[in-house]
Amino acid sequence: MAVDTSRIIGPIILLGAPGAGKGTQAKLIAGHYQIPQVSTGDLLRDNVTRGTELGKTASSIMARGELVPDDLVYGIVSERLRETDCDRGYILDGFPRTPSQAGWLDALLEDKFFDKPKDEKWHPLVIRIDVDYNELLLRLTGRRICLANGHIYNIHLKPPCKDAICDKDGSQLVIRDDDREEVIRERLLAYESQTRPVAEYYAGRGRLVSVDGELPVEQVSDWVFREIERHNPHAPGQK
Ligand code: AMP
Repeated sequence: MAVDTSRIIGPIILLGAPGAGKGTQAKLIAGHYQIPQVSTGDLLRDNVTRGTELGKTASSIMARGELVPDDLVYGIVSERLRETDCDRGYILDGFPRTPSQAGWLDALLEDKFFDKPKDEKWHPLVIRIDVDYNELLLRLTGRRICLANGHIYNIHLKPPCKDAICDKDGSQLVIRDDDREEVIRERLLAYESQTRPVAEYYAGRGRLVSVDGELPVEQVSDWVFREIERHNPHAPGQK
């Protein structure tokens, strides 16, 4: 299907636990609608790599897995959203992480000094990808990565033919450090405590939709696209 590159899509916020398939869906939406994925984690890591003042402050906080102070994050988000590739919309990934960040984003999108359109379409559509806790554990604890080329398996859901050996290149399959069960439980708990209030913030404003993340990837993305279309119907005469 041809993409109409003049069409406004607006901001899309994806919420989903680690392992829910948020990254996969974000890439599919970005590719389909030709809008950028704006990840605060990536923007912060880029500052750390470039050794900026902000990066120097953020790096030890990030290493402890804590949240970087709001004023630093707000600076990089507002700067990024002003770039012209965000003019038709964007997918926010990793932001907002708290209700106060969500409130700040609403204020930014309403702000007369923020040089972007301010009609209804610029109220974020918030899509939460729901996956049951036990399924998340299966997805994350079963994940194995090939050492040579990063091919991904899952010993429960998509096992290799030979134990711990990559089918494609014969190299060894290993567990990523942050996929160890005790770390996974921590990550899932942190997600739950951080994200539930954000989801409640948007649910209270009638902007939260949930999709069933346990369906096959294409069915999840069909559902996600339907929600985007419902939020943002084609104007008459548009393709
Ligand atoms: P992520 O790649 O989204 O897991 O983010 C990596 C790290 O960057 C997090 O553990 C936080 O330290 C920091 N970070 C990312 N997004 C935010 C945010 N919205 N607010 C505060 N800190 C953030």
